[in-house]
Amino acid sequence: MLNEKRLVELFIQLVETDSVSGHEGKIRDLLKGHFALRGLEVEEDKAGEILGGQSGNLLVRVADSVEGPPLLFAAHMDTVKPGEGIKAVIGDDRIIRSQGDTILGSDDKSAIAALLEAYDIILEQDLPHPPMEFLFTVQEEQGLKGSKLFDFSRLQARIAYVLDDNNDPGTIVIKSPCQNEIEYVVHGRAAHAGMNPEDGINAIQLAAMALAQMPCGRIDEDTTCNFGVIKGGLARNIVAPECRVRGEARSSKREKLDSLTASLKATFINTVEDLGGKAEVNIEFLYPEIALAPDEEVVQRAARAARKLGLEPRLAATGGGSDASIINGQGIACVNLGVGMKNVHTTDEYVEIDHLVQDVQLILKIIEG
Ligand code: ZN
Ligand code: CA
Repeated sequence: MLNEKRLVELFIQLVETDSVSGHEGKIRDLLKGHFALRGLEVEEDKAGEILGGQSGNLLVRVADSVEGPPLLFAAHMDTVKPGEGIKAVIGDDRIIRSQGDTILGSDDKSAIAALLEAYDIILEQDLPHPPMEFLFTVQEEQGLKGSKLFDFSRLQARIAYVLDDNNDPGTIVIKSPCQNEIEYVVHGRAAHAGMNPEDGINAIQLAAMALAQMPCGRIDEDTTCNFGVIKGGLARNIVAPECRVRGEARSSKREKLDSLTASLKATFINTVEDLGGKAEVNIEFLYPEIALAPDEEVVQRAARAARKLGLEPRLAATGGGSDASIINGQGIACVNLGVGMKNVHTTDEYVEIDHLVQDVQLILKIIEG
């Protein structure tokens, strides 16, 4: 039987254990203790050392009791700010909120609580299960930094579930874009704006002329790009020697991201150089796409699980990255599941107890197959 009281108490204990990105030491210790009591080792990797954080990513391996495809379940341990001194409040409406001065941290501790409760039910009822791997990542909120450093060759699973989508349980994210961060830099030449402007090369003007040649916004149904920040110049009376633009490009198709990025880069560099400046374009690939077909086993298994609970499975697309993006990029089929957390990254964040309960049930049904 699902123990709702134990689930809610564990959830509250987890959210009241502060773990702002980089400061995951306390929750790491809590999880190590929790699994040690159940005879399981928690393996911590070096991500914490590399990133200068308190904790690395945690991996827990559970041996099978029946044959079946190994399954990975993943959630992140860190939270955004303000995430210190969180106090959870249970309302008469069976909704858990913070006191209003912090986030709640149901992103992503609803997932952790549900996973731990599901595992306790498996132990208590001796439920059959294939080999399972639980991955708890750090610094997800800082750009998926923990999962990017995890060595996925350590895993057996080829089917994976990240529990980190804010839609309701039953939602299965099968599509999300890949993204490049792109920085455009113009190097011009400074000169006095009134005395000898002809000796200068105005980086702001060159950047403007280049940007005017470039696409921005929606490119096609799969693809978008943006210029988000522009900085340049030193003073009103100096010909601007430098200008930097920070932007991005996203697409659900890798070829489209690559070709758009290449054309943005070429247009920028060519335009600036034709006008006598020097240009530089720095590209960082932030995360790969999720592009799963509805009939893939990872999707179908989650859809079957949802139906068994009377939930209509909803296959969804999102516009941003998650640990599921990184896992897919490592050749492991991975969906992101809706867990029902609401207003995340705000002090109005909340989660319904009924959704926490459904999360546990969904995990159990996925394991059941
Ligand atoms: Zn999250
Ligand atoms: Ca988040």
